[in-house]
Amino acid sequence: MPGELRNMSFPCFCAVCGRELIPQEKFMCLSCLCDLPRTYFWMDKENVLSGMFSVGLPFVYASAFLFFRDESPYRKLLHRFKYGGEREIGFFLGTLYGKELAASPLKNNVPVIIPVPMSVQKRRRRGYNQAEWFAAGIAAVSGWNMDTVAVKRVREKTSQTVYDREERRENMKHAFTAKKMTYKDILIVDDVITTGATMESCACAILDNNPEVCMHFASLAYVE
Ligand SMILES: [Zn+2]
Repeated sequence: MPGELRNMSFPCFCAVCGRELIPQEKFMCLSCLCDLPRTYFWMDKENVLSGMFSVGLPFVYASAFLFFRDESPYRKLLHRFKYGGEREIGFFLGTLYGKELAASPLKNNVPVIIPVPMSVQKRRRRGYNQAEWFAAGIAAVSGWNMDTVAVKRVREKTSQTVYDREERRENMKHAFTAKKMTYKDILIVDDVITTGATMESCACAILDNNPEVCMHFASLAYVE
């Protein structure tokens, strides 16, 4: 009986293929879980994402967990997390990614995780920061600490749909402020990386006050 009740109060269908889930499965079926479009960027320092950032921006590792393709069935899963309010999906994916990161070369750096913050106004409106939920999943399995107060977002981006790459970068300048920190390594975590402009702006704010820090980037999805 309790098992039945638990099933009734839980989303019972795979967020990717729609198949009915068995009680041990969470958000997606085992088959879709195995087929997650992982990038494996964390195993390859010279990955395509690393090449997106401005020449001269100092960072060591940059990786994303999943490829994000428009026609992918996994789009539904990310959409539910990003726009549907299902923050637990982000946490769950964070735990999967955290296991990979904790076994990757990054493990030797033991970074402090800093999720890309939202402005106070946006956070109030939305109720939660997706990047923070995803980062919390990474922290939970890696054992790395998370800092959600040292960096603040002072400006949200305006609509970027019409901007090209350079204009986006210009648009994102000075969107963050960061305190002086004592960390040796910082892992900035965001949900989706499209141009890298947000990640880069956040990194620049941190470097302004912490020029000696060793910087790493991680996101949930990399848009191809
Ligand atoms: Zn499935």
